[in-house]
Amino acid sequence: MDQNRNIGGTFRTVLSRPDEIMLAAGASGELLAARLRVALAACLFLLPVTNALTGGLPGESVIGFGGAAFVNIFALLWLRLARRPRHYRWLPFATAAFDVTATTVVLALLGAQYLPAALNSMVVWCCYVLAILMTALRSDGRITVFAGALALVQYGMLIAMVFLTASADQLLSPEYGAVTPGSQIQRLILLALTTALTATIVYRMQRLVQMSGIDGLTGLPNRTWLLHRMPWLLEAAHEQGRSLSLALIDLDHFKAINTDLGHRVGDRVLCHVAAVLQDALNESEWLVRLGGEELVLVMPLPVGAAWERMEVLRQRAAAHPFHPGTPRGEPIRITVSVGVAASPHDGHDTSQLLGRADRRLKHAKRGGRNRVVARDE
Ligand code: GH3
Ligand code: MG
Ligand code: MG
Repeated sequence: MDQNRNIGGTFRTVLSRPDEIMLAAGASGELLAARLRVALAACLFLLPVTNALTGGLPGESVIGFGGAAFVNIFALLWLRLARRPRHYRWLPFATAAFDVTATTVVLALLGAQYLPAALNSMVVWCCYVLAILMTALRSDGRITVFAGALALVQYGMLIAMVFLTASADQLLSPEYGAVTPGSQIQRLILLALTTALTATIVYRMQRLVQMSGIDGLTGLPNRTWLLHRMPWLLEAAHEQGRSLSLALIDLDHFKAINTDLGHRVGDRVLCHVAAVLQDALNESEWLVRLGGEELVLVMPLPVGAAWERMEVLRQRAAAHPFHPGTPRGEPIRITVSVGVAASPHDGHDTSQLLGRADRRLKHAKRGGRNRVVARDE
């Protein structure tokens, strides 16, 4: 079933750990959230000032001022951590927990001063909604669900405490109106709806990033995906002291197929080769459509082992002819030529490796095609 229409699938995706691209996007989103928090925290000083100027209770203004100072100090601390080049995986969870808990603490302090304020201070309650909405910037559904669940639990506990300790007349206030169970249940529902809406936005953003990284014809990851993914793969290989090889694969005499059989058949040939190779890959190998009839295979292997692996795949492609599916159409043998380059020996970034692999691919073509070249000749 289409993932879009499958609620169970959507829910699982929202709760799963995003891939490295989304985590990188989330890390830059964390920095944006940290900057936004500093700006919002500065605005919080306006609340006690307005309260004092408009004749509000003096105790509220003091608590509001103290709360705003507390939030501002932490907002600056979170910004410092988010700015560091190292990305802390726990940071978005910690900051989301802070945003929610700071709201609960301010509500509790207001309640200690004047009980109805704990549950009927609309302005402070809205900070829960802001905290949940801000998790969308992290592009990670787990953080949204975590923040939403924490807000529901903390606000639920606040409601329980107020209703258990207050007498009926303490819940009536000229400033805040009546605190009723019905209105509090509605607020809990609103928090749950905000969480669901934010998680849906995160899911949609993840789908859009995913779609922009997938080739429409073959269903393989595309050039954009490769250029985003390679730095991560290269960094991980470097940290673990491993090699990473990249094989540039070009179909032989593909123009002739287009000319003789038409572009449509050419497209099907491309899909056929992609599927034949893809079926033989293991989890640590990535096949990408770079563009046209050029594919790239990324393998966590040193150059010699990558050459051997590519040799197996080259033979596999040649051994699986394309069947046009027409009554008189003969099977067509498709061969590929391949240039292999490996990090760290042949280069440290994607463009160096692609350049080296392209040179070797040209050798393979000049050498007669249907071969793999992994050394400069
Ligand atoms: P060589 O063995 O030297 O690689 O010869 P070739 O004919 O394959 O030459 P080249 O690699 O330069 O050919 C690329 C051709 O691939 C040109 C273009 O018409 C065709 N092509 C590129 N993208 C597509 C596509 O998406 N669909 C189809 N049907 N053809 C494509
Ligand atoms: Mg080509
Ligand atoms: Mg070609």
